[in-house]
Amino acid sequence: NRVPIRRALISVSDKTNIESLATGLSRLGVEILSTGGTAKMLEQAGILVTEISEYTEFPEMMDGRIKTLHPRVHGALLGRNGVDEEVMSQHGIESIDLLVVNLYPFESTIKKADVTLEEAIENIDIGGPAMIRAAAKNHDRVTVMVSPSDYEEMLDELTTYGGISHANRHILAAKAFAHTARYDGLIANYLSAINDTEEQEDFPRYLTQQFKHRSELRYGENPHQKAAFYTEEHPVSGTIGHAWQIQGKALSYNNIADADAALSCVKEFKNTPACVIVKHANPCGVATESNLTLAYLKAFATDPTSAFGGVLAFNGKLTGKTAETILEKQFAEVIVAPEFDDEALKVFATKKNLRVICCGKLPEETKPWMMYKRVSGGLLVQDADIEMINVHEAKVVTKRQPTEQELTDMSFAWKVCKWVKSNAIVYVKGEQTIGVGAGQMSRVVSARIASIKADDADLKVPGSVMASDAFFPFRDGIDAAAQAGITAVIQPGGSIRDEEVIQAANHHDMAMIFTGMRHFNH
Ligand code: 5GP
Repeated sequence: NRVPIRRALISVSDKTNIESLATGLSRLGVEILSTGGTAKMLEQAGILVTEISEYTEFPEMMDGRIKTLHPRVHGALLGRNGVDEEVMSQHGIESIDLLVVNLYPFESTIKKADVTLEEAIENIDIGGPAMIRAAAKNHDRVTVMVSPSDYEEMLDELTTYGGISHANRHILAAKAFAHTARYDGLIANYLSAINDTEEQEDFPRYLTQQFKHRSELRYGENPHQKAAFYTEEHPVSGTIGHAWQIQGKALSYNNIADADAALSCVKEFKNTPACVIVKHANPCGVATESNLTLAYLKAFATDPTSAFGGVLAFNGKLTGKTAETILEKQFAEVIVAPEFDDEALKVFATKKNLRVICCGKLPEETKPWMMYKRVSGGLLVQDADIEMINVHEAKVVTKRQPTEQELTDMSFAWKVCKWVKSNAIVYVKGEQTIGVGAGQMSRVVSARIASIKADDADLKVPGSVMASDAFFPFRDGIDAAAQAGITAVIQPGGSIRDEEVIQAANHHDMAMIFTGMRHFNH
């Protein structure tokens, strides 16, 4: 059952010992076919070879992606003994009895420190594994070698017996499949491991399926972070995804994030003109009034220092009067509103750099949508927080009922509080933020900051209401608020010490509402 070898195909990346093998085969009268690089090397060593392109009458192309992928090669490897001779001769296919192949050096390529994805991909061998598998499948007739360490023994057997035994062809075939399996395993591991690298995340697939690329941003939160803006296919009116820019410098990553925060907050106010000023993702001034100019002036008054360079959002058509007032008062980065009148645009046009964006009519209600947040090695997914309780229907837990004004202010404070980063404390009086404490690790400190803010702006806390985005774990927060002059509190409730907290409020003759709903915002 020894099969003689008349024709061999040699195509190797690792050219170790290939010269001596080819020399030995030549001496035994074996015709040698070879691919470009291998052929060149063997010819230089004075060995007679036929180039594969000559044999297939088809050029190697695509930088080597196509060399041996041809029916004349694969037919020559796959043709069965005693079965396929006729069809082979019909198509001019001459059988290949020995295949010597080792693959593009994928493993050593990906071990290089600065390897690029492109380079790794070019080192995925296609024709090599196809030939190895064809020859190994057909080991009933064909001998396949994938390792230079097998050359000598095979050459010895061939020299001594004039052919290779079935047993050895079988062993070599098993080796060959193990070789291609390992090779594909390396590729699969490599590709899945780099899933999270920069290259893969330039345009992450999970994003491009749901969102379309809107614009490249100059950079992300910081200059060393690359960034882009993606929007939904059909974003609804009144969203940042829907908004278009009327004038000004290009929007930055932080501009978009802040404009979204400001817009989200101002949207909470439906039937009364409202203004929200955001700085670093937090409202630093919010107010409602009979018109947008007055609303703006009240919002600005909360914290004029922080408002400098802020992002302003309005919930109605912005007029020339409001535009003039803003420009008199402050430097703003971005102004967003559902609509602008011609006068307003004329006024803003005098400030070329000011970014003015129109978000379109605000929706009556927000449809549910999903929030995504990447964490290292994963993705957090949640429903957007679109809930808002009606304060007038919420539970008053104290002996004293809130006054109408307190109720109005608590409703206002609760809407603002939802959009302040946790821990959030918001003081409100007359539908104007008096002090905002944002993003602290302790609720008490947030309250202190709200008081400091009120002081800085010469606004008086006494008579204000307080909103807290989550429950008070102890009575100390209520005691401190009472001392500052807070008369009513709105908070979710739900602490194991609620009773103690209610007692404290009663003690200070405060009114307190439990919303039963928390609004953490991180
Ligand atoms: P050479 O140095 O002889 O030009 O190329 C040898 C390498 O090419 C071997 O590693 C072999 O596995 C690979 N090879 C042979 N045929 C093809 C083919 O059609 N496509 C690809 N991508 N690689 C091939």
